[in-house]
Amino acid sequence: MSNDQPFTAQRTPKYVGRFAPSPSGPLHFGSLVSALASYLDAKANNGLWLLRIEDLDPPREPAGAAKKIIQQLESLGLTWDDEVLFQSKRIDAYDTALMTLASEGLCFHCSCSRRDVKTMKGGYSGKCRSNGLSARELQYPIKKQHSTSIRIRTDLKKVGFEDAILGPFSSQLSESGGDFIIRRKDGMIAYQLAVVIDDAWQGVTNIVRGTDLLSSTPKQRYLQTVLGLAQPTYAHIPIVTDTNGTKLSKQAFARAIDTEDAFPLLFRALLLLGQRPPERQFSRSPNSLLNWAIEHWELQSVPKLASIVFDSVLY
Ligand code: GLU
Repeated sequence: MSNDQPFTAQRTPKYVGRFAPSPSGPLHFGSLVSALASYLDAKANNGLWLLRIEDLDPPREPAGAAKKIIQQLESLGLTWDDEVLFQSKRIDAYDTALMTLASEGLCFHCSCSRRDVKTMKGGYSGKCRSNGLSARELQYPIKKQHSTSIRIRTDLKKVGFEDAILGPFSSQLSESGGDFIIRRKDGMIAYQLAVVIDDAWQGVTNIVRGTDLLSSTPKQRYLQTVLGLAQPTYAHIPIVTDTNGTKLSKQAFARAIDTEDAFPLLFRALLLLGQRPPERQFSRSPNSLLNWAIEHWELQSVPKLASIVFDSVLY
């Protein structure tokens, strides 16, 4: 794939799914569940399943984490189509997108700190909106730019969509955080913009991911609208928490999964996703379990919940 047309889908099959981990550590059980759900939904629909490593935050990426994630997916038998896409190789595409948004007068410099925003009632107040950012400034960057973040103007329209699991969802961006950051103070493109550009470029049609990202979806759909990009279908699955309700995450030191014994991991993940694999029919072979799961996958059986406790699924 070339970077020449950063927004144009490189392929047009009917179903293209993806798993897009940030390499902030190895896969844990929660990320396995997301990977598995997106894999099964893609394969059950005869689709492609792509792997994208979202490596845009080097300080939070331990050395070797991306490699480890790739190895773990391989050991589980979750094999992806096409080459792995690394976001760190896509900076030019993000810059082009930023330029497009700036030339439409949608971006502005913001010098507010996180603490400043916290004191504003109801999210970012639009305080720095008058510090407009021109496309010319991005073309001839001056160092000073990097001491401010760049936000995109949002409007009062409701952004609604039909989640394939949860049903209708809508939110008004001005009431849920307001104008949001698309380039961080340190010069890094923010997740919201990068993810939208890459989903479009990779021709992703169906996104299956955790409910922790549900509040990001309206932002991403807004960006798709203003950039004139196709809008994928979204399905948000419950996130996995510990018994205290804390999301299993690399930040909360969730244990890396041990892929030596893939069968019980996949089996348990399937139960958590509301699927009912008949245990006795398999010789504990991960591949035959995956084949069963592709054949019997039912997105509608995934619990319509924001989160699910890891221990609630007994194995
Ligand atoms: N990179 C994000 C994460 O690891 C997920 C992005 C997405 O699925 O949209 O949480």
